[in-house]
Amino acid sequence: MQKLSAVKGMNDILPPDSARWEWLEEVVRSLMQRYAYRAIRTPIVEPTALFVRGLGEVTDIVEKEMYSFEDRLNGEQLTLRPEATAGVVRAAVEHSLLYDGGKRLYYMGPMFRHERPQRGRYRQFHQIGAEALGFPGAEVDAEIILLAHALWAELGLAGVRLELNSLGQPEERKAHRAALIAHFAAHQDLLDEDARRRLHSNPLRILDTKNPAMQAVVDGAPRLIDHLGEASRAHLEQVQAMLDAAGVAWSINPRLVRGMDYYNLTVFEFVTDQLGAQGTICGGGRYDYLVEQMGGKPAPAVGWALGVERVLELLKEQQRAPATVAPHAYAVVPDAAALPTAMACLQRLRGLGIAVQMHAGGAQGLGSMKAQFKKADASGARFALVFGADELQAGMLTVKPLREAGEQVQRPLADLAALAASLQSPR
Ligand code: ATP
Ligand code: MG
Repeated sequence: MQKLSAVKGMNDILPPDSARWEWLEEVVRSLMQRYAYRAIRTPIVEPTALFVRGLGEVTDIVEKEMYSFEDRLNGEQLTLRPEATAGVVRAAVEHSLLYDGGKRLYYMGPMFRHERPQRGRYRQFHQIGAEALGFPGAEVDAEIILLAHALWAELGLAGVRLELNSLGQPEERKAHRAALIAHFAAHQDLLDEDARRRLHSNPLRILDTKNPAMQAVVDGAPRLIDHLGEASRAHLEQVQAMLDAAGVAWSINPRLVRGMDYYNLTVFEFVTDQLGAQGTICGGGRYDYLVEQMGGKPAPAVGWALGVERVLELLKEQQRAPATVAPHAYAVVPDAAALPTAMACLQRLRGLGIAVQMHAGGAQGLGSMKAQFKKADASGARFALVFGADELQAGMLTVKPLREAGEQVQRPLADLAALAASLQSPR
């Protein structure tokens, strides 16, 4: 029969790689706990209108990257989420999460964008995100940036730079927009098709172009940061002061605009030079108008999302890896008659916190001792537990060290707590 393969740009995550994923997720959970961010899980499928309204009609994502389909049963227009902020805001509004004050939330999960697959760019990829809803102050911008910064430190990542910008407020953007249109209109011949189309509908988007041929005309464009009023500048300066005091380096990138229309004031990205063209590992900013746009009572918000694949790729690049996950012990069972006793014993040991891999036989039975010890060795286990007939007769089992010097010893089956303690003892 013909083999089936995964959809292009969508990856299987297999062991041992999956251990790196679990490790990253554990580090994130522990960190979120310390910053008092709570988990939220929203559906992977949302009404298409949510993203059109939330992200903006004239954005790369909505124009060409969404997996949209019609619900066969009722004709509803649905989309696999390309990002999670819109869904989180929808959920917050739908469940009145903000009625008694702000909420700090985080999520992890798959996102879907129909992009050209390449290193660090996939069609199903994963994001971890943090969102602080209902807080207007610059201290929360700083908090959420410091949270991401702390994550790089806990993962042992080096060489991640923080770029900051301010997109100001809608009023300030109006003046800049006019200047931007004038600039790009004067250089029509240098614009690509997307940019020409967006010239009047969404000129800010032109700054976000990935087209290297347009870099010069974008670099020469008027800077939004020069059109900011007093309050917007003060907000940015407060964020900067708090980052400075915490010892977190930043630089201003006046071209940083982000890919969705919902941002205002602070925007930021964490970037690295080690991942080629896909150098942004995390991006975010303030989105003070999205809650209202989703039909909620106006509430400010700030958040970020990181790309899990890119972070893991960077960890690999820097040879940072979690300790390998080997079991404490591997169970060797010379004779099938011992299986009931062995299985019962392993069940109890696992209840005591011991990771133990059971030897599983093939079509010819359990196999020779030699073959079983070979498997025990390959498992990475520190000890082999041997359930030999003679020992069992005497109420004992044999513990044999596999990776360190030392004699094998016999332990009583009647005292599994002592056995468990010895299997976990430091080397
Ligand atoms: P890029 O400029 O690289 O296309 P983006 O601005 O579209 O990124 P965001 O929507 O801000 O990305 O998503 C946040 C993070 O998610 C990105 O910084 C990146 O690490 C990751 N990411 C985005 N798109 C993809 C993708 N197709 N494959 C893998 N990771 C992605
Ligand atoms: Mg993109």
